[in-house]
Amino acid sequence: MWQAEVRVDLDAIRDNVSRLRSGTAADVMAVVKADGYGHGILPAARASLDGGATWLGVCTLDEALTLRRGGITAPVLAWLLAPGLPLHEGITAGVDLAAASLPQLDEMVEASRRADRPARLHLKIDTGLSRGGATVADWPALLDAAAKAQADGLVEVVGVWSHFVYADMPGHPTTDRQLAVFHEGLAMVERAGLRPRYRHLANSAATLTRPDTHFDLVRPGIAVYGLSPVAGETFGLRPAMTARARVMLTKRVPAGTGVSYGHTYTTDRETNLAVVPLGYADGVPRHASNSGPVQLGGVRRVISGRVCMDQFVLDCGDDAVAAGDVATLFGSGADGEPTADDWADAVGTINYEIVTRFGGSRVQRIYD
Ligand code: PLP
Repeated sequence: MWQAEVRVDLDAIRDNVSRLRSGTAADVMAVVKADGYGHGILPAARASLDGGATWLGVCTLDEALTLRRGGITAPVLAWLLAPGLPLHEGITAGVDLAAASLPQLDEMVEASRRADRPARLHLKIDTGLSRGGATVADWPALLDAAAKAQADGLVEVVGVWSHFVYADMPGHPTTDRQLAVFHEGLAMVERAGLRPRYRHLANSAATLTRPDTHFDLVRPGIAVYGLSPVAGETFGLRPAMTARARVMLTKRVPAGTGVSYGHTYTTDRETNLAVVPLGYADGVPRHASNSGPVQLGGVRRVISGRVCMDQFVLDCGDDAVAAGDVATLFGSGADGEPTADDWADAVGTINYEIVTRFGGSRVQRIYD
């Protein structure tokens, strides 16, 4: 018998990737960082590859090595690499690395020597996000150094890439500006004598709305999991995650009863309370206090009072709810349950944060 679970519909992941795949001539890199956006990195990776992805994208070296240890042989790119990591392990495991600065390139050259094998690099250029990526001013030095290292047989420049600021707002002028800057960068890459096989720029939103940004490879993340990056659009995607828990206890209380820490909720009539064993340690945002939507007994309710570390309470009125009943926090919405988007709206965040935070160590993940 389970207490709290996250169910992951792997068919949905396969179908979503297959939909993305059929909408582009580019190869698809499924982004499975952050434990597959909370869906489990290995199952998400396998389902994505089954759906037609040929690449996997992660942030950390550890994530990339987890994929390799899990038996995944598809190309993997890791793009968030702090100084001092054992990059040679990644190179030996055939993990592609993102380089965005001369010191990073130097480390990768050193790691290539240690691994006795050239690192496969994707040079990241900053086209406006001001996050990872070399600034325009630093491109020439990075490109020239990479070209030299490649000529010396120390690295292989496999990709050039960047990342969007506003792709989730179709029509935003910054996207066109970034695309123009990316083209400038590609021209400079060519002038430096580099001919990378993969140019890549598009996240989910750009994959779904801007075919002119697809180049050779697209990097969808959130859409793989069936969630839309663009408000008000579903793109026919199927949400893969359902989060639910079984009611632990119900009790009848009088009007005027304060509920949970701080008594931020008080019953206005005699009512049935249901205690649900999921809290912020499991991923339920504390901001969902008095706002998070939950379906119980076929009815959508709102969390009453504060979300605690391990539990929250629902005021169910005179409805006959019982211990063991299933409370669904979010799912695909097909049965009237709230969605991750409803949760994001309720707590003032984005669907990405809802799914990635769910499923702490106490919540079992079940794959359908
Ligand atoms: N590419 C990079 C560099 C990212 O950091 C991410 C995620 O944040 C993605 C692609 C996928 O983005 P999305 O989940 O919006 O598709």
